[in-house]
Amino acid sequence: MDKILLLAHTLDDGTLPKGAYESLNAALKLAADLGGAAVTVGLLGGDVQSAADSIAACGAASILVVSGEDFATSRYSSDTVAVEALVKEAAPTLVLAPTSSRFSRCLPGAAYRCDGRIETHITGIKVVDGTVQVQRWYYRQRMVATLSRAQRPWFLVIDSGVFEPWQGAAGTADVKALDIAVDDSCRRTRVVGVQTPDSDAQTIRPDAKLLFVAGAGWTKKQADGQLHIKKAEGLILDFINNSKASLGSSKSLVDQSSEGEVISFMSHLNQVGQTGSTPRHPKGLATCCHGEEPHTVGWRFISERRAITLDPNCGWAQGKADVLYVADAFEVIAKANELLAK
Ligand SMILES: Cc1cc2nc3c(=O)[nH]c(=O)nc-3n(C[C@H](O)[C@H](O)[C@H](O)COP(=O)(O)OP(=O)(O)OC[C@H]3O[C@@H](n4cnc5c(N)ncnc54)[C@H](O)[C@@H]3O)c2cc1C
Repeated sequence: MDKILLLAHTLDDGTLPKGAYESLNAALKLAADLGGAAVTVGLLGGDVQSAADSIAACGAASILVVSGEDFATSRYSSDTVAVEALVKEAAPTLVLAPTSSRFSRCLPGAAYRCDGRIETHITGIKVVDGTVQVQRWYYRQRMVATLSRAQRPWFLVIDSGVFEPWQGAAGTADVKALDIAVDDSCRRTRVVGVQTPDSDAQTIRPDAKLLFVAGAGWTKKQADGQLHIKKAEGLILDFINNSKASLGSSKSLVDQSSEGEVISFMSHLNQVGQTGSTPRHPKGLATCCHGEEPHTVGWRFISERRAITLDPNCGWAQGKADVLYVADAFEVIAKANELLAK
């Protein structure tokens, strides 16, 4: 009989990230599909009681915790020791966890220590004739594969936005704390502080409801024969700050950073598409972007797609967008900013 361990770690404020609730839902669904497999939750963090309380009603057989100063922040050496101990205690066949930078760093090593195998970027899990099959994409989301493995424990690291987050009442969770000895060799890496970019510079927001994509049209000559790059910068920045959207870009726009006057806050990290990212947001709005295939392939996981462009024959018009506005994006976004500011 399969046994599932759902791993999650807390954020700095002691809460669980959205991905943890999504993976919890995935674990509970998988347990049901396997005919009632037991689910154990394993929590990692500085102080995890309130996180455990937030999932008290999830129906897990037990909640194991590894907590304390040594586990407050991401550190490969102590995190692998913690995960190894959680796996030893729970003795699972399947280990589910959300994708996060912390887990992406430590879980491959932890899986190796547990003599397990690991699959990352999981976008689907199903049970076929009693066999667990997982789905993931390859070659920049162009090929999808369905995989299964005989080796156990099998670690499955689940991408965000694939499952609905688990929702339930908070309560008082009964947790079992594992006492783990962390020796000095584990403590050689210390977090001495956190540096974050200014909030204006943080334009990539994976949890945003809207992806706002800027294309190269923002930097092209407009109807008056002039460039309006500073104006474009202001409109785009106001829009993403007012709407809390995440900022994406076409390749043509980010490539211009080596060619003189450009949108200053745009970098290759913003690029969406075949050689860029494949973000997951419920909605997307492309502006001044032509909607060519190498760009729109990065929109594969955007549920509702809209585009604003002057060209009625652009790629978006050819089945790539749900709604196409043939309009001047400078005017539309200025109007949207006016409304958002109210
Ligand atoms: C191997 C390979 C990989 C690639 N990978 C990627 C990738 O990962 N991501 C990516 O984006 N591209 C990628 N490309 C490039 C891609 O094919 C396109 O060249 C690129 O997406 C075009 O960018 P764009 O639509 O912003 O610019 P353009 O094609 O220049 O389109 C600009 C658009 O803006 C419109 N416009 C101008 N002014 C306004 C206005 N005032 N209001 C409204 N609309 C306006 C114009 O009508 C035009 O449609 C790749 C290409 C190759 C060969």
